[in-house]
Amino acid sequence: MMCLHRIAAVLTDEHRFLLMTHKDPDADGIGSMLALGKSLSDAGKETTLLSQEPLRPPLNLLKGAGQVVTRVDADQVFDVAVVLDCAEKERLGYAADQLRDQLPLINIDHHETNDRFGTLNLIEPESSSTGELVFGVIQAAGLPIGPDVAGNLYAAIQGDTGSFRYANTTARALRAAADLVDRGADPWGISRKVMDSHSLPRLRLLKMALDTIQLHHKGRVAIMTLTRKMLEEAGAHEADSDQFVDYPRFVRGVELGVLIREIGADACKFSLRSNTWVNAARLASRFGGGGHERAAGFTYHGPVTVAENAFLKEAERFLDGICD
Ligand code: 5GP
Ligand code: MN
Repeated sequence: MMCLHRIAAVLTDEHRFLLMTHKDPDADGIGSMLALGKSLSDAGKETTLLSQEPLRPPLNLLKGAGQVVTRVDADQVFDVAVVLDCAEKERLGYAADQLRDQLPLINIDHHETNDRFGTLNLIEPESSSTGELVFGVIQAAGLPIGPDVAGNLYAAIQGDTGSFRYANTTARALRAAADLVDRGADPWGISRKVMDSHSLPRLRLLKMALDTIQLHHKGRVAIMTLTRKMLEEAGAHEADSDQFVDYPRFVRGVELGVLIREIGADACKFSLRSNTWVNAARLASRFGGGGHERAAGFTYHGPVTVAENAFLKEAERFLDGICD
């Protein structure tokens, strides 16, 4: 808790802030960044919101998304950088190059695997989302929370809890959400904008992806596979498949849902979701990745079929309790 107050004091005392989140950003990272940025600027401070890439739908529809930049001028001066929802500095992608060595760095995150790379670190794995943590930080700092700040924090919490369905949907998360609605967040408007607004290519891609679901290990593992060719055929973007990993997990009897995305000729991105007991972060860490107990990921360097076989071998050992 000490750290919360030290961070709150820095936010109150300093003036020029550089805010960042992880690459391939999600609603939690961007919602947290937009909310903290708006709250700081409403308090009269200078803020720069940096993303590795331009925001895509639906995240570019969040209030204030137009403020996000992909470059910072070399002569721009900051007092402090705040990194949100990012477990390791490497996950910032090339946005990390814009962090200058001497710049004090605040690291706010809820990943168990966060390596505390900041000068000040607020890492709470029991928090549903970074949005929930940022809400606490803004309140501790006595910074303003108008309807746009509330809405973006709500979107962050909603994103990471799968619309208040996942195992991280705690009473504290729900109370934070209710409090944010009191402060002007609009659940229906945000859901329509962020959750229930899809391009037709995305839905076409989903159809193809659903067709690839295969069960393994007595129906306890379900794997969905997405190739570059399928993306091309659907006319979709890689980010369009972001929530697809839920579907293999939805199959009755499945403990571990897996999405394998081909990201290059010789690399694939794994997304893991478990239903009740498999520690997905621990399984992912066997392949150099990480994440949370119920949601984790890693990158595998090799073609999809090789990756799938290597993964299945390890996953089966895990499910059989052979691994610790
Ligand atoms: P997703 O499957 O949505 O990409 O990621 C699920 C969770 O796993 C996220 O919390 C994310 O931070 C984590 N994760 C995904 N990929 C990686 C990775 O390559 N390395 C680490 N350390 N965590 C990852
Ligand atoms: Mn998060």
